[in-house]
Amino acid sequence: MTQQSFGVIGLAVMGENIALNVERNGFPIAVYNRSREKTDAFMASRAGGRNVKAAFDLKEFVGSLERPRKILVMVKAGRPVDAVIEQLKPLLDEGDIIIDGGNSLYEDTERRTRELEPQGFRFIGMGVSGGEEGALNGPSLMPGGTESSYEYLSPILTKIAAQVDDGPCVAYCGPGGAGHYVKMVHNGIEYGDMQLIAEAYDLLKNLGGLDHKQLHEVFAEWNTTDELNSFLIEITADIFPYIDEGTGLPLVDLILDAAGQKGTGRWTAVNALELGVAIPTIGAAVNARIMSSYKQERVAASKELSGPNGKYQGQTKEFIKMVRDALYCSKICSYAQGMALLAKASEEYNYNLNLGEMARIWKGGCIIRAGFLNKIKKAFDENSSLANLLLAPEFKQTILDRQNSWREVVSTAAKLGIPVPAFSASLDYFDSYRRERLPQNLTQAQRDYFGAHTYLRTDKEGVFHTEWVPIA
Ligand code: NAP
Repeated sequence: MTQQSFGVIGLAVMGENIALNVERNGFPIAVYNRSREKTDAFMASRAGGRNVKAAFDLKEFVGSLERPRKILVMVKAGRPVDAVIEQLKPLLDEGDIIIDGGNSLYEDTERRTRELEPQGFRFIGMGVSGGEEGALNGPSLMPGGTESSYEYLSPILTKIAAQVDDGPCVAYCGPGGAGHYVKMVHNGIEYGDMQLIAEAYDLLKNLGGLDHKQLHEVFAEWNTTDELNSFLIEITADIFPYIDEGTGLPLVDLILDAAGQKGTGRWTAVNALELGVAIPTIGAAVNARIMSSYKQERVAASKELSGPNGKYQGQTKEFIKMVRDALYCSKICSYAQGMALLAKASEEYNYNLNLGEMARIWKGGCIIRAGFLNKIKKAFDENSSLANLLLAPEFKQTILDRQNSWREVVSTAAKLGIPVPAFSASLDYFDSYRRERLPQNLTQAQRDYFGAHTYLRTDKEGVFHTEWVPIA
């Protein structure tokens, strides 16, 4: 009996589409889903006439795969992944490869690797980005684990990944949980991008007075630029002219302003705090989603707490240009933070990440895909030990040239009472990073005053403590 080259467990949105992608690229597949109905529906519809073998129990599924077996687990992250692995283990042979393609927390991937590898199994934790469409036509893939295990998968993964001008959007990230770590930071950056776009929209609509048609035109135009051309700007442009059939109003205006989150942005922020890496733009994006979820409280507070309001008084055209500059400068800061986090994690967890390559595999397939990533790749290719993206010649010059617009936008928003948490967090990041002296000398004095925590001095070597009782 001929055997299938690749197995997929979990036939929800992602598993189903990746399975079809693998098969379309010439690899016969076997599929299994916990509840039979999904498998039946898949076989009766999209898998019809393709080289797909449906299995209705795991023994049959495992038995249908050539060895070493390559099994992609595409189920809900968390306990379901452990449950599937536990069920698979007694059925597998030494050297078989389990790939967890869900949005698993990298620490879970580290734990699973520690448990599975000594038992003779190969385990790959792989971040997958691009949603339904990416999974089907080419996602961005971020595999991590033992490199020799990745080599077995590389012929398949390089074919199913999105293809861009400089290759497939997949690269071995590093050992253990490196792949899921990179995916987590990718999602944190995605949160930052989305919040920055939301703030630009808020400013243009509420201070600039742009209607949905003008918003569409502005975002569509930005999407043609070298700097902002990206999937997220493109879909934003598409969203504005979409009219709700029932009301005849732009649908976006009817959507409840409370954003959901599944946790990967929050994980990024928590991990950054643990590693001591400042990611204020991404943190602001997570907080903004949390603030948005206080809908009822905000409605009540809006009747109690007043503040300034009004419109931008200058030229609309000029304002649009300033918002664009502020968006781009903030975006640079957001990516500088994400890349700094990857660099620190690489050092801390021995991931040995190639930052330029990480930027390259995000160029296609994934939600943050953007022309701008070419510039990031170039910056790290030119200087792999770059301390911060803000110091890369192109980004440095961009910010130096445009910071006045950025400052004007943030101060206008503050004066007119529009929250721009990610724009202002980005500007604060830039100003803090570029400033030789920050006020934490006073913080140190306070810590020494109340807790004898000691301090260093700028004028002499040594560790100092002072009895801070004021001299009369
Ligand atoms: P999902 O809604 O996260 O999960 C549903 C799948 O998990 C179903 O196949 C379900 O089987 C299975 N499942 C749940 N609990 C199980 C258990 N205890 N044992 C066995 N199977 C179990 O599906 P998804 O949206 O396709 O996402 C899959 C993974 O990819 C997730 O980790 C998700 O975070 C990640 N991801 C999703 C996207 C996206 O755009 N949706 C993008 C990137 C990554 P039943 O049918 O039997 O319930």
